[in-house]
Amino acid sequence: MIRVGVVGYGTIGKRVASAILKQPDMVLVGVVKRTPDYSVRIGLSRGIRFFIPDEEKADLWNEAGVKFSGDIAQLLEKCDVVVDATPKGTGMHNRKIYERKGLKAIFQGGEPPEVGDLSFVAQVNYKSSVGKQFLRVVSCNTTGLARLLHAINREYPIDKAIALLVRRSVDPNQDIEGQVDCVIPSFGISHHAKDLKTVIGDIDVVTFAVKVPVTHFHIHMISIKLKDSVSPNNIIDLLEETRRIAVISSKDKLGSTAKLLDLSRELGRSRSDIYENLIWLDSICTEGKWLHLMQAIHQEAIVIPENIDAIRAVSGSTDASTSMSLTDSSLSIASSRFF
Ligand code: NAD
Repeated sequence: MIRVGVVGYGTIGKRVASAILKQPDMVLVGVVKRTPDYSVRIGLSRGIRFFIPDEEKADLWNEAGVKFSGDIAQLLEKCDVVVDATPKGTGMHNRKIYERKGLKAIFQGGEPPEVGDLSFVAQVNYKSSVGKQFLRVVSCNTTGLARLLHAINREYPIDKAIALLVRRSVDPNQDIEGQVDCVIPSFGISHHAKDLKTVIGDIDVVTFAVKVPVTHFHIHMISIKLKDSVSPNNIIDLLEETRRIAVISSKDKLGSTAKLLDLSRELGRSRSDIYENLIWLDSICTEGKWLHLMQAIHQEAIVIPENIDAIRAVSGSTDASTSMSLTDSSLSIASSRFF
């Protein structure tokens, strides 16, 4: 069993912790959390052990009457691998702690690429990640684009790809003040293109992005110039055979992100999570060498299977295909259609 600790219990950390609990070859040793809030009380009732990031937080937890099992140093002592899911920038700081302890660690996409020995997407570079000390699971947008473009490029080589990203502004649990009725463009080529190069450096991609005032899903509108022309049916066949990509259709009344949210609820997914890239069948069309399509990415969920595979990769416990099969079956991940 791989003994895993999670540092940071927010949008990503709590999902990674729940996914670890479902793996047959992993044990969740505990979670580091700063504030003893409702999510801790629920986690405790489900048997999760909580640790505080430093002794100064002990009074806060004791006053709230919430049980903790020690501090971060005590947790890390018992772990083989740590998943750091703290906010942007904190992981880079924590890296020194893991380095001193000789611990393997997985970081998230908010950290700079230098935090990891490699930027990770399981389908792209699991094999070269095996045995590394530090991996960085790239952001939700980068994961979604890398999965798709890597699959297409392997079968139908890509000359150039242009992706327009319509991004949710905040996650559903964020009650912060801010963008209510406006669209915020990122001017020029967005940072996602640079980040993609850390994973699929052999594919020429440019990205443009706007943020819109919604909380669920990013939408990607992608135009791909292929080296040779291909029929839409060939692309559909390829996508239907590709792991962690699911093809959906507006004929099933799945023509909006509201319906995608409802789909995840109907599927009975934990936290309404959709781990797959959702590609609209109706959006797939070709014009000579150009292929156009649209995909939806559930930002809170898509990186969760990648974190689980990254744990196995750094541990060197198994190969890519076995790891992804274990992850996918434990999370009921679809690889073609949901029904
Ligand atoms: P979040 O704010 O929801 O959660 C972070 C948690 O870490 C919070 O509970 C915070 O209190 C806690 N924390 C802060 N400092 C800590 C410390 N020193 N020790 C322990 N806990 C600490 O953030 P998130 O959305 O889960 O993002 C985490 C990382 O994942 C970021 O790098 C982000 O860019 C990346 N990411 C986020 C999303 C998304 O959609 N939310 C998607 C993909 C990747």
